Amino acid sequence: MSSLSPHAVKKFRSALLTWYASAARDLPWRKTRDPYTVIVSELMLQQTQVDRVIPKYRAWMKKFPNVQTLASASTREVLGEWQGLGYNRRAQFLHRMAKEVTKTYGGIFPNSIDALMSLPGIGPYTARAVMNFAFETSEPIVETNVRRVLSRIFVSFKHTLSLTEKEYWALAHAATPKKDHYNFNQAIMDFGAVVCVAKKPKCEACPFQNMCNSYPEILSAQPKHLRVTKKTNEKIYFGEPRRIWRGKILKFLHTPRQQKNGASLVEIGNAIQNDFSVERKEWLKSVLHTLIADKMVEQKGKRYHLPL
Ligand code: SF4
Repeated sequence: MSSLSPHAVKKFRSALLTWYASAARDLPWRKTRDPYTVIVSELMLQQTQVDRVIPKYRAWMKKFPNVQTLASASTREVLGEWQGLGYNRRAQFLHRMAKEVTKTYGGIFPNSIDALMSLPGIGPYTARAVMNFAFETSEPIVETNVRRVLSRIFVSFKHTLSLTEKEYWALAHAATPKKDHYNFNQAIMDFGAVVCVAKKPKCEACPFQNMCNSYPEILSAQPKHLRVTKKTNEKIYFGEPRRIWRGKILKFLHTPRQQKNGASLVEIGNAIQNDFSVERKEWLKSVLHTLIADKMVEQKGKRYHLPL
């Protein structure tokens, strides 16, 4: 991958910020620079669409408005509030992170990438997002939308899947300005979410047509070339991946009656599958064991509960 021309980068930044000035999405987490808020929104947005995140984010912030309230909540409350977002490990990470920040940093988030990355659930992207969105440093960020937009414009949509992480970071470094980086990073994520979308990019409404290395070929491209993330080989059980069954189990155990009494294996099976049968008991036990190993469920005798 050759380096980007300064002229092209300058043109790109300016056109992107102009587009953003009139098209920015109104997202509640953009109204603050609080690192806790940034982390909550970033973890919710991993794997979940913005429209689904907004109401959950508002409810979460009402229940756990700061790192201290989250740190002192029970696992049951945290998992309950996360319901509907899926990938429950993210809730666990947030909970552990809140405890760690409260215990080690007195409730004040550290402002260095290394210290942030030492917290549970914080990877290179989230650490840089916090540095950029909360502490307003000029960190570049690389997430799905950024990968897609930069590779399509400056390389080619055909190579999106073959770029290495290092190459994506090099692109982001070259493209991110030293000034107005907050708006630039928000803008590029919005642009990827609204215009340069994965499946059917809206090239006809795009201000980058005359500098985009993918236009116009992308309009007749095959779907396999438009994907940005590589397909995962998630195993399917009775029509759904295991994480969906895990989510259904947690949802059932969170209902008031089950919170009080817990549930047996068969009760759980019948609650999550209309056609549950004894032949599936061993499979269900194996799923429950993954939840027990992740400390999301506890077993007392023959009954399963959410931890307090
Ligand atoms: S022209 Fe199409 S592919 Fe290129 S940046 Fe615009 S929307 Fe994306």
